[in-house]
Amino acid sequence: MDFELPEELKLMKEQLRRFVDREIIPIEREAYDGPDLKPDVRARLEAKTKEMGYWNISTPVEYGGLGLGLMARVVIWEELGRSIALPTRKTSIFGPEVSPILYHLTDEQKADYLYPIISGDKDCCFALTEPDAGSDPAGIKTTAVRDGDHYVINGYKRFITNAQHADFIQLMASTDRSKGARGITAFLVDINTPGVSIVRAQPTMMDDEPCELAFDNVRIPVSKRIANEGDGFKMAQDWINTGRVRHGARGLGVIQRCLEMSVSYAQQRVTFGQPLANRQAVQWMLVDSYMDLQQLRFLVYHAAWKHERGEDIRNEAYMAKMLGDRLSFQAADRCIQIHGGIAFTKELPIEKLWRDQRSMMITEGPEEVLRMTLARHVLEQYSK
Ligand SMILES: Cc1cc2nc3c(=O)[nH]c(=O)nc-3n(C[C@H](O)[C@H](O)[C@H](O)COP(=O)(O)OP(=O)(O)OC[C@H]3O[C@@H](n4cnc5c(N)ncnc54)[C@H](O)[C@@H]3O)c2cc1C
Repeated sequence: MDFELPEELKLMKEQLRRFVDREIIPIEREAYDGPDLKPDVRARLEAKTKEMGYWNISTPVEYGGLGLGLMARVVIWEELGRSIALPTRKTSIFGPEVSPILYHLTDEQKADYLYPIISGDKDCCFALTEPDAGSDPAGIKTTAVRDGDHYVINGYKRFITNAQHADFIQLMASTDRSKGARGITAFLVDINTPGVSIVRAQPTMMDDEPCELAFDNVRIPVSKRIANEGDGFKMAQDWINTGRVRHGARGLGVIQRCLEMSVSYAQQRVTFGQPLANRQAVQWMLVDSYMDLQQLRFLVYHAAWKHERGEDIRNEAYMAKMLGDRLSFQAADRCIQIHGGIAFTKELPIEKLWRDQRSMMITEGPEEVLRMTLARHVLEQYSK
């Protein structure tokens, strides 16, 4: 068993820590314009990540990216998690994030959709959730019905991040509702296809503005289908696993930032003649966050290590997401408690960390649903 990060990842971690401390944290409260980074801030930070050699980090080498493994990406996500500057659900500053679904495209489809995403010439969104189906995708009602060499799509999607800026939609629609999730098929739908409309953007408490989309008799050629009918949900699986580990890694960054801020404040703030740091009630809050950080770190890095060995990390990914979201939210909550009233001001990042981490406990799978799935494994593994 080796608990050391490889040397190159240690160096990367140190470099990113300096980058976040010097270039990102100082501007974090002014970096936003609505749900996204201000264009000049994005341009400056992206120029910096390119200069550091971290561009297109997750794009495979054969497509011109760095093809970093999950361990390296965990290092990056952890360090970035320490700041509120970077949009939680939008393109990062390390180049376009390509959904792995797009690697399943045919060569012809890749020319129109994958390569323009990698080069930054096109933007896209992913549409699965509907008003009547979120964590249970088997319930989606959007249908794609075959009509000769076309499909006709009808339905309604909700909470679709980035639809306002998307050139195309990676749409999940049912081609056979009797099969539930196994009847879900993925399609490429250009946003300007007749019948597609962005009904409205819905501002949220985290500053995101996901959209509602309507599909009214949208006709698309069969050539816009991704892989086979019924493959849609299966294809999203690996993406979902690494996405869950990302929640855990981000949680590590959030807990660390909360500890840094809480310790600093507790040492300076004097009440009833003594610094808060002398009070056992405060020390215990700090220790709770510290212990949470340690257990989460083992879990997240172990998941990344297993993934790099090509092993199945479904269960680790469930746990990384659940614990990462919950423990980091609790750390932000303790950070508020230790700071008192000043924590609620927009001068400090704490209230934003708290809002963001609370939302993480719902998006990409609420805890109850992940527990339900993990329970199947526990029942199987421990039954005599
Ligand atoms: C800011 C934001 C951005 C988003 N971006 C996207 C996007 O880009 N694309 C996309 O497709 N979706 C997106 N979503 C949707 C998101 O993935 C869903 O909100 C999430 O999956 C939960 O679905 P739901 O909101 O419909 O909740 P529901 O599925 O209705 O669940 C509601 C609550 O019920 C409980 N619950 C549900 N099932 C069970 C169960 N079996 N047992 C016990 N309790 C249960 C849970 O506590 C859950 O929180 C986004 C959402 C938000 C808020």
